Amino acid sequence: MLQDLAPHVYRNEISWKAPESDDLALAFGEDRTLLCRMEGDRIILPRMADIPAGTAQYAFSIDGRAYYLVPVPEEPPDGFLHTKTSALRAQTDHTSVELFAAAAGESLWRWYRANRFCGRCGVQMEPSKTERAMVCPACAETVYPKICPAVIAAVTDGDRLLLTRYANRPFRKYALVAGFAEIGETIEDTVRREVFEETGLHVKNLRFYKSQPWVFTDTLLMGFFCELDGSADVTLQTSELAEARWFSRAEIPADHSNISLTGEMIERFRRNLERSEP
Ligand SMILES: [Zn+2]
Repeated sequence: MLQDLAPHVYRNEISWKAPESDDLALAFGEDRTLLCRMEGDRIILPRMADIPAGTAQYAFSIDGRAYYLVPVPEEPPDGFLHTKTSALRAQTDHTSVELFAAAAGESLWRWYRANRFCGRCGVQMEPSKTERAMVCPACAETVYPKICPAVIAAVTDGDRLLLTRYANRPFRKYALVAGFAEIGETIEDTVRREVFEETGLHVKNLRFYKSQPWVFTDTLLMGFFCELDGSADVTLQTSELAEARWFSRAEIPADHSNISLTGEMIERFRRNLERSEP
């Protein structure tokens, strides 16, 4: 999946290290672009030495090399272009270090950009000196990175799996029931509520499978397999879904994209592996 970078090592704790010339620059534009160039399927980022010195916010490191969020330079360095981040995802190897760095970096960039001013009193926020947070110098309001918990629910009925397709979204492939946790709700209750809201079905025997940081939407996905409890008749929530229907293992289309938890869970079921260790 996207975050499976081994043998590469991703370190996400905040650091106050000053940029070095060989560190990498993530320059995101307001029009959802990243300054980079493509070499075949690889995203090449500018080095800090390639861009004018200025403000730089440490993001993370991979294999000991630091990545910094920097403002878009007035003149792009030679050979680098502003490329739509959605195009990067469409073109590149879905398990590449560079794609992960671009996607995780964009999530951080969105968060820093959205928290420049205090939502409580309006004063300009400052980065915390002790942790990854933005702090208001006037009222001490503290804001942590935005990570929204959500579930992916694979509803099974013996040899059948419930697959869905979204209404009103560009993603046209089959998916699983999904949705965000609400305040005050356990993640297991999120599974039961989302399955019922979207399909009218009840589920039992929830079994946690795996989680995935889906950085494209600031989401932490938690995947569950669960079993149908009662009637298998679907009542579709048409505002969310265009389709929800039962597929036998043999009918499920194979998915080798290897990027998402949803894809991996569907594939596990198709290959009759949903009960074995992840
Ligand atoms: Zn404040």
